Amino acid sequence: MGDVVVIGAGIAGIQAALDIASHGISVHLVEREPSIGGHMAQLDKTFPTNDCSMCILSPKMVDVSRHPLITIHTCAEVETIEGEIGNFTVTIIEHPRYVDVELCNGCGDCIEICPVEVYNRFDAGIGVRKAIYKPHAQVVPDIVVKDAEHCIECGLCYDACGPNAILRKDEGKKVTINAASIVITTGYSVFDARNKEQFGHLILPDVITSLELERMINASGPTLGKIKRMSNGEVPKSIVFIQCVGSRDVSIDRPYCSCVCCMQAMKNAILIKEKQPDIEITLCYMDIRAYGKGYEEYYERAKSLGIRFLRGMPADIRADRNGLILQVENSETSEVLILHPDLVVLSIGIGPADNAADIAAKCGVTLETTGFFKSVHDAVDTVATLRPGIYVAGTASAPRDIPDSVASGGSAAMRAYIDAVRTRSA
Ligand code: SF4
Ligand code: SF4
Repeated sequence: MGDVVVIGAGIAGIQAALDIASHGISVHLVEREPSIGGHMAQLDKTFPTNDCSMCILSPKMVDVSRHPLITIHTCAEVETIEGEIGNFTVTIIEHPRYVDVELCNGCGDCIEICPVEVYNRFDAGIGVRKAIYKPHAQVVPDIVVKDAEHCIECGLCYDACGPNAILRKDEGKKVTINAASIVITTGYSVFDARNKEQFGHLILPDVITSLELERMINASGPTLGKIKRMSNGEVPKSIVFIQCVGSRDVSIDRPYCSCVCCMQAMKNAILIKEKQPDIEITLCYMDIRAYGKGYEEYYERAKSLGIRFLRGMPADIRADRNGLILQVENSETSEVLILHPDLVVLSIGIGPADNAADIAAKCGVTLETTGFFKSVHDAVDTVATLRPGIYVAGTASAPRDIPDSVASGGSAAMRAYIDAVRTRSA
């Protein structure tokens, strides 16, 4: 009675759960992935401080896992929501993990012995994982999950597992929660660059996305931090970033700015330049949006390192036997330039989570025409939805950077907390 359900365990959901629980209210944190952490766990560093992303996130993930008032439901999705503020009945489905969560100690012996390798979605396509796996090294809860679709039932992991934690059959379970209020923090999904065919993503091997670069640049990622061309494994001598791929583009019905891509590109360009100053870096942009605290100074720092900012967008990327070819008109000088970079990074935009419409329908709340969750007022009440007792935070309601996501998570948490306290004292 009087608990709060938080749907989505990225940084906004984690912050909301910690804030509510630290005020004495029980929280159920529902996450469809095997680990909490969300997209922030995929990032290498954060702007404008260049702090290691996991160094900030991981302690919060551990705090969540240790908090006596927070129950984590991973591999879980909301099935139904009924009732009203103060008395919601939320049913969630915990999908089969094929691992006994009480017995698994996270040792990884099963991962080591598993012979099946498949593409790791967490590494954005440039790394592999086993059929029994942890998406990354710092998962919370620190246990494995078996991918039944790719498991060939060779039996090796069952024999390797000391505590006999691996299950041949698992039907998952249904959990019903009575909640006073609900916070939606379902996050975002990244733009699929194949929808801009002219840039050749997944056709031209040396055209990668900003998310692939994040995994590549990460010292614990699939290339151990080495920046390389996907075509031949060599270190690129020149890199071009193309901004606004899937943002500010009415031709594909994505008219909005994704808010973070300019700063993310600058951050990755700075990290590369600081490690390998000989790599030539050009950033092709429409406008540079550096609006937050310390962001303009960060932009100046990028320029001072020799990163070239070119105001102009290539119409496409072509290739011949010598490599990639981009034609760009510098809109400040009208000069037409032909670039031959070794590597191109597409700064892909962020859009609504792929389950946003489903969650909105189950919660009985409204989406914007963009597909993000609608709040009561974009200026003075950004966390309340039109349905009393249901709040929204983080990138579920709009593209946001990490500081704004954390702040909105805390703000939604206090609204949900007040509902819970009122319910308990009624
Ligand atoms: Fe270790 Fe068994 Fe858990 Fe695999 S399932 S991590 S072998 S305890
Ligand atoms: Fe891997 Fe499946 Fe064999 Fe286990 S039974 S080692 S998960 S392929």
